Amino acid sequence: FISTRVQVDSVRLTTPNGFTYEQPTGLFINNEFVKSHNGDTISVEDPSTGQKLVDVQSGTKADVEYAVECAEKAFKSSWSTADPKFRAQALLRLADLVEQRREMIASIESMDNGKALRLARGDVGLVIDFLRSSAGFADKLDGRSINTGDGYVNYTVREPIGVCGQIIPWNFPLMMLSWKIAPALAAGNTVILKPASPTPLNALYFASLCKEAGIPAGVVNIIPGPGRGVGETLSTHPKIRKIAFTGSTGTGRGIAVKAAESNLKKVTLELGGKSAHMVFNDADLTKTLPNLVNGIFLNAGQICSSGSRIYVQEGIYDTLLPAFKKYVEETVTVGSPFEESNFQGAINNKMQYDTILNYINVGKQEGAKLLTGGDACGQDGYFVKPTVFYDVAEEMRVVKEEIFGPVVTISKFKEIEDGVAMANDSEFGLGAGIQTESLSTALKVSKSLKAGTVWVNTYNDFHACVPFGGCKQSGYGREMGIEAFDAYTSVKAVRIKL
Ligand code: NAD
Repeated sequence: FISTRVQVDSVRLTTPNGFTYEQPTGLFINNEFVKSHNGDTISVEDPSTGQKLVDVQSGTKADVEYAVECAEKAFKSSWSTADPKFRAQALLRLADLVEQRREMIASIESMDNGKALRLARGDVGLVIDFLRSSAGFADKLDGRSINTGDGYVNYTVREPIGVCGQIIPWNFPLMMLSWKIAPALAAGNTVILKPASPTPLNALYFASLCKEAGIPAGVVNIIPGPGRGVGETLSTHPKIRKIAFTGSTGTGRGIAVKAAESNLKKVTLELGGKSAHMVFNDADLTKTLPNLVNGIFLNAGQICSSGSRIYVQEGIYDTLLPAFKKYVEETVTVGSPFEESNFQGAINNKMQYDTILNYINVGKQEGAKLLTGGDACGQDGYFVKPTVFYDVAEEMRVVKEEIFGPVVTISKFKEIEDGVAMANDSEFGLGAGIQTESLSTALKVSKSLKAGTVWVNTYNDFHACVPFGGCKQSGYGREMGIEAFDAYTSVKAVRIKL
């Protein structure tokens, strides 16, 4: 079976801004780009034009089985036991390769995902930082010694877990990949990652860089394919010891159940959100307006931590509404991701585009007032105007449900406690935002908000060293920072009787 793998050639592609490169199109298993077991393919399109870009191989259960064999062999042979310096150096070489081609990689991301190039550049910058930060942890994953005072020597070590399955969404294709792969590798695990079907291009390009960086065969395997085929096989496979997932809450719940039923593999979940962004009476609007815009219109709102519910204190509400309308209409330009002046590119796929437009109609039918937007725009591709509803009721679906698009609601509150209660009245708990000039309001409110991250006087502001993740139905586990290594290591205690 292993020896019958058929290699697949790359395809020469040119990004709309003129980078010509070799796009791998095979499944990346054991450092080779190979054909899928049944020859199925995924058609990848450019969401800003709706035009097909390329076909890539679509994996099957049999392909995952083969990848698990290879990943297990790589784990046992040398990767997990190597001097951590070896793994760190490989990740540093990988970071250098991404950095050398950063503009091209950002362009591939924009072409595949539809996001504005200026945002894709930021994504790639964070990927580089995070690869380097993870490399730095490789030789610092120490245990501790425990003084029990009873004549024993006790110590712990942190060991890699084994073969890890990783499933990512389409909103930040390369960044999500790096958040998954880098800590797993630094800690000595091997991985099989499934990108989302609409956005496999940079994942496969990154795979070619892994090989170029000298990462041994079988350590990184990347298999595009259907959630129900490749994704489910990863979740249920008895030899996979950990599954990391980012995507919708419903899919995440199903994965947790399957992981438990199969072999109780370790699970981390980064799921949906409906994050509250609070503006207090003393907020400085010159800072607040761009923060609100970054909160909801960055990546056209397709961010799990989007500040999609804005809560404004009574004293500033009437000033904020017209100022926000003007600011959004002037600055949130929508159109080609490759037009430098555009803030918002395309929605990633037709299904999500339809979902967003449907929610906008729901909001209108529910009686929410429209401050701006409320429609699609552009001739081709999937573009939606930045849309702001105000005077909403908290039970409206547009306030309660994750839309995952450029749609935000604005509600009013009077007392701080009321605002916090409204902000916390959600099944989700991923991000939260506070705009205030008062340190004491910032500290008090950030303590009361039920969220994995609270941003104060900023929003959707990520850093490679700061952990990210959710509470409640936004999931569990953390990515980035040293906390990411909890998911990719297992603690062994050794107790020696002297
Ligand atoms: P999804 O959860 O369906 O897909 C995410 C990933 O999981 C994809 O790679 C998909 O192929 C895979 N998958 C799907 N079904 C699976 C299964 N049964 N077993 C294993 N893997 C499976 O999300 P989506 O369709 O890409 O987006 C739908 C919604 O998810 C969005 O509207 C948004 O609300 C949410 N979302 C959240 C995030 C986030 O970062 N939290 C990111 C993208 C999407």
